[in-house]
Amino acid sequence: MQKNLFIYTFGCQMNVHDSEKIAALMEKSGYASVDDVGKADLIIINTCSVRERAAQKVYSQLGRLKKFKKMKPKLIIGVGGCLAQQLGSKFIERVPHLDLVFGTHNIHSLPDLIAKIEETGQPVVRTEFHEEVKSLGILAPTKNGKVTAYVTIMQGCNNFCSYCVVPHLRGKEESRSLTEIVKEVEVLAGRGIKEVTLLGQNVNSYGRAIGNRHDFADLLHEIGSIAGIERIRFTTSHPKDLSDKLVCCFSEVDKLCEHIHLPVQTGSDRVLKMMNRYYTNAEYCERVDKLRSICPGISITSDIIVGFPGEADGDFQATIDMMGKIRFDNSFSFKYSERDGTAAAELGDKVSECVKTDRLKIVQALQEKHTLEKNEAMIGNTEEILVEEISKNSKEDIAGRTRTNKIVNFRGSHTLIGKTVSVLIIDAYQHSLKGRLLDVN
Ligand code: SAM
Ligand code: SF4
Repeated sequence: MQKNLFIYTFGCQMNVHDSEKIAALMEKSGYASVDDVGKADLIIINTCSVRERAAQKVYSQLGRLKKFKKMKPKLIIGVGGCLAQQLGSKFIERVPHLDLVFGTHNIHSLPDLIAKIEETGQPVVRTEFHEEVKSLGILAPTKNGKVTAYVTIMQGCNNFCSYCVVPHLRGKEESRSLTEIVKEVEVLAGRGIKEVTLLGQNVNSYGRAIGNRHDFADLLHEIGSIAGIERIRFTTSHPKDLSDKLVCCFSEVDKLCEHIHLPVQTGSDRVLKMMNRYYTNAEYCERVDKLRSICPGISITSDIIVGFPGEADGDFQATIDMMGKIRFDNSFSFKYSERDGTAAAELGDKVSECVKTDRLKIVQALQEKHTLEKNEAMIGNTEEILVEEISKNSKEDIAGRTRTNKIVNFRGSHTLIGKTVSVLIIDAYQHSLKGRLLDVN
């Protein structure tokens, strides 16, 4: 008998892609993905614990699921991802209606773990690390009409930024082989995928863990020659590893889109040092200058943390000054969140919650201003858009992104989904642009 699966995903694109892999695995074991949680026989929550707030959202969601368990006692509820890795069996002590806790290296065992719970009715916890992460190569099915896809090129992180829990919960850096990645992208191209986003915590160090035979720039050149793939994106890049060879890919690999997410975290050299980021404000700005000279018009986005322990007014001002100098196209900004087990959790001189709140408001207001100004400056441009879907604003409109990763909505037929079209930008908002269709390329 067919059983139904519902997945909640919290956190980053990597978690979104892990959820696609989980669905692929469970579909092979007879589960069908459903949109209605009420119809599920198995609910998986793919968690994030990068910040305390993300963890709190998971607990709230789990609380809401209790009623489903009461209505349907055979329902299986499982948690995966970073918070599951962090808490292990303590998760079940805290949330007794949980049946399964599986860690970041255990996705591949999911069908066996579920079968065991179905057989015994007993909760299962599996959080050990493995030398090789076996889920890296799981190929998720492509939904009808989808033209973009994620491809995991590496997993884990060796950087140990002092605030970050990821290396503790995702394990050491591991890169997939170039051949394996190329094969996966070829399969995706055969299914009609036009754009791939290459995923890793620090894609710039791709290849290091497999003896440096090929680096990330080599991988971009290889993928750039795969027929059918029109656009390549990647995330995330660590500024300390952004080599000249990689920067040059923006002029050498035609399919590489003109956008880079390059998290700066802070503009203060003193705080960068305490964060273990291994670059200075001047070095970051030099990398940005290099990117802009090789690829004029490249869009640069970033992550910013406010209120790191010891961040004084002068340090915060350095962040604001840097934002003014670089003018990011967009940024994600966060209040520093103390995470157990990280080096920064041991630091004194904590910044108060109200100072963090004030600083976050200032950063976000400045970013909104810069984003809107940058979007407004695009009015009158003709942009190449890969049409991805019916617009979320209106059924009569379609939507896609510029090569610089800005969303554009415009009047057009759904039959254009998957096509690359020329669009005149006629209006600009905070989060998107409005366009007029000119030509189908
Ligand atoms: N690997 C990526 C990198 O280095 O850029 C980012 C991974 S992390 C999941 C995404 C962002 O979360 C980071 O760039 C950082 O700004 C933020 N972050 C991580 N730990 C944090 C913490 N303890 N408090 C606040 N923000 C945090
Ligand atoms: Fe965390 Fe730093 Fe690794 Fe990114 S590079 S995942 S911020 S430790």
